[in-house]
Amino acid sequence: MKAVSHNRKRLPLYAKILIGMALGVAFGFAAIALHCEGFVSDWVAPLGTIFLRLLKLIAVPLVLVSLILGVVSLKDIKSLSRIGLKTILIYVCTTIIAVSIGLAMVSLLKPGKLFPEDKQTEFVERYQQTVTEREAQMQQVKGDSPMQFVVDMLQVIFFSLLFGVALICVGQSKTASVVRFFQQLNLILLKIIDFIMAFAPLGVFALMAGLIVDYAGDVGIISSLGMYALTVVMALAVIILVVYPVILRLFSKKKLGQFFKAVFPVQMLAFSTSSSAATLPLTMERTQKHLGVSEEVSSFVLPVGVTINMDGTSCYQAVAAVFLAQVMGLDLSFGQLLIILATATISSIGTPGIPGGSIVMLMIVLDSVGIPIEGLALILGIDRPLDMLRTVVNVTGDTTVACVVDNKKELHINA
Ligand code: ASP
Repeated sequence: MKAVSHNRKRLPLYAKILIGMALGVAFGFAAIALHCEGFVSDWVAPLGTIFLRLLKLIAVPLVLVSLILGVVSLKDIKSLSRIGLKTILIYVCTTIIAVSIGLAMVSLLKPGKLFPEDKQTEFVERYQQTVTEREAQMQQVKGDSPMQFVVDMLQVIFFSLLFGVALICVGQSKTASVVRFFQQLNLILLKIIDFIMAFAPLGVFALMAGLIVDYAGDVGIISSLGMYALTVVMALAVIILVVYPVILRLFSKKKLGQFFKAVFPVQMLAFSTSSSAATLPLTMERTQKHLGVSEEVSSFVLPVGVTINMDGTSCYQAVAAVFLAQVMGLDLSFGQLLIILATATISSIGTPGIPGGSIVMLMIVLDSVGIPIEGLALILGIDRPLDMLRTVVNVTGDTTVACVVDNKKELHINA
């Protein structure tokens, strides 16, 4: 009895999350077989929503506090601008690489050319209402300027940076108690995250069960869009399995095995929540404790990354835009591909790290090269599973860059 409880306690988080996911999928299919989908939607899925909201609730104060502490720990404006510039430069580079891989893959495989014309009208009719709603959302988002959304998203980051810089300028002797306050607040936030993560296996179980019940009816759609999905999956796989390992080998001293072992639970949580913002607390913890990235670097690089660095999202947006152009018989010129490269990069910066965050931003990409927004109807049905995968890439990218910026001697830490 004692041995059992000991084992249970030692079961690592990723194992618990994996078990939660598997049981959730099984539960979802069982509910469909027994015709009790209503029970899952009414009683199980809300537990997943609560879990997701708890994580998102903590994400904003966490970004605020860790960025302020991150800036303060850099001690002077010179090291802030050095690390800040380096971080943003690497983020933009990885995003451009990701979009280019997406563009190359979709141009090579041409999934849009395989799409049956009769299915096209069926999808457009089926999702027309959703597209109209999204269009209305975009009108709001666009406001006076197409960049409004990006501006809004960055305000927490901007305020935290400003606050941190002001703290440094006023001087340590006069602000010591404020810094101590934020350090203590950080400890409290981390404790809250511990509490929330204890709920993770159950939360993930509920999210997966709800997802299966919601999407199982759409199997027809999923298979018709198979080639498109495959293109996205292959492009994302190249980023995770080739681009990041090469970057890590060239620019950091971390061992690949150690990296992937440390980041695996983060990827699992990203996969099941479809939200890089919700995954941030775990990303921070694993990056610091299991990859040995200094608090100074991780508390600056990761919160910034979760807001502006979305390699999976940008790659996906490029594939989706070109796919839709192919389906609609629009031939994109090289110049238009370059516009997609630019808009996908910028719009991924403004994409919020929440489930389906990039759909609204994708409209901006489509708009930029004149692809009709109605085309979105074709890909909405299959968006969620692809969202789960691109979120995995998003969080892996942030962690990779944290390792590169932190490029210091290898630490021997138990992953
Ligand atoms: N779900 C993604 C994330 O949180 C954003 C998106 O691509 O929709 O990273």
